[in-house]
Amino acid sequence: MTEFRSGFIALVGKPNVGKSTLINALLGQKVAAVSPRPQTTRRRQLGILTTEIAQLIFVDSPGIHKAQHKLGKFLNQEAEEGLNGVDLILWLVDGSQDPDDEDEMIASILKELKRTRGVVIGLNKIDKLDPAQGIGSQSEKYGNLLPSAEVVAFSALQPGSRSELVSKLIEKLPVREAEFPPDQLTDLYEREIAADLIREAALFFLRDEVPHGLAVRIDEFTERGEVGAYIAATLFVERDSQKGIVIGEKGLMLKKIGSAARQEIESMGGRKVFLQLRVKVAKGWRNDENFLNRFGYKIKKPS
Ligand code: GDP
Ligand code: MG
Repeated sequence: MTEFRSGFIALVGKPNVGKSTLINALLGQKVAAVSPRPQTTRRRQLGILTTEIAQLIFVDSPGIHKAQHKLGKFLNQEAEEGLNGVDLILWLVDGSQDPDDEDEMIASILKELKRTRGVVIGLNKIDKLDPAQGIGSQSEKYGNLLPSAEVVAFSALQPGSRSELVSKLIEKLPVREAEFPPDQLTDLYEREIAADLIREAALFFLRDEVPHGLAVRIDEFTERGEVGAYIAATLFVERDSQKGIVIGEKGLMLKKIGSAARQEIESMGGRKVFLQLRVKVAKGWRNDENFLNRFGYKIKKPS
């Protein structure tokens, strides 16, 4: 029996190379988990893929994106911290195009890193290559930027070639038990976070007007493949007067809350979200244990 492998994989790469496409395709409807507070850690969880033989925890490294924009300064501390302690780095590139300045900059950041087990260059979009541009020559161009890395050519759009990439990543992960129990990685986790984000957005816009008297329940959370996720949620307030405030004139306040929350949820999950909100009055919900239990989700206890 092969030993179980598990680890954190930082996903880096220029915009548009297919990072979201890959993550969404890999995780599909099976699992989707994001970390609740990106700012509490230098890394953001993009998703966790648990298979029979391995657990791959994909994380984002915000530092490297910023570093890309600081021209001339290749390595800043933030980028290093962001990539610190991961087990593996997956550097995704657009194999249908030649490397440019930005790729060179990423390569130079990655070269400076000391505490990682290695880098895999995911040469994506090979389905777009015309026969004249050989896969070999594209692999070489990118491989030359970072000779220590291994290049895997694939297409995020093709299931077969995605699993080749996954096999390669698993091979490079340490033998280790799963970090997260597989059953914890249902969308339930993301549901909780979505509820939190909606509540946060509401409190941001309403500030003192509905102090703490607000609870959020996710009524539906459905992944709809390519088009993203559909989320329906109810905001509970304690008094009739608060309902009007949350909805706002012509529904504008609720729209604002929904739009802000939607953007947060989208950026967490890396895919589009259709968010539908409604408001209900539940008098004295805060003292109602049953009400809280019925939610089935963790609710932030009012402080
Ligand atoms: P990100 O900015 O790195 O997250 O890139 P996206 O995942 O948003 O992808 C950018 C564009 O590239 C989208 O239009 C994708 O459909 C497309 N794309 C991603 N992977 C592939 C691939 O393997 N082949 C082709 N032809 N297009 C791809
Ligand atoms: Mg993206």
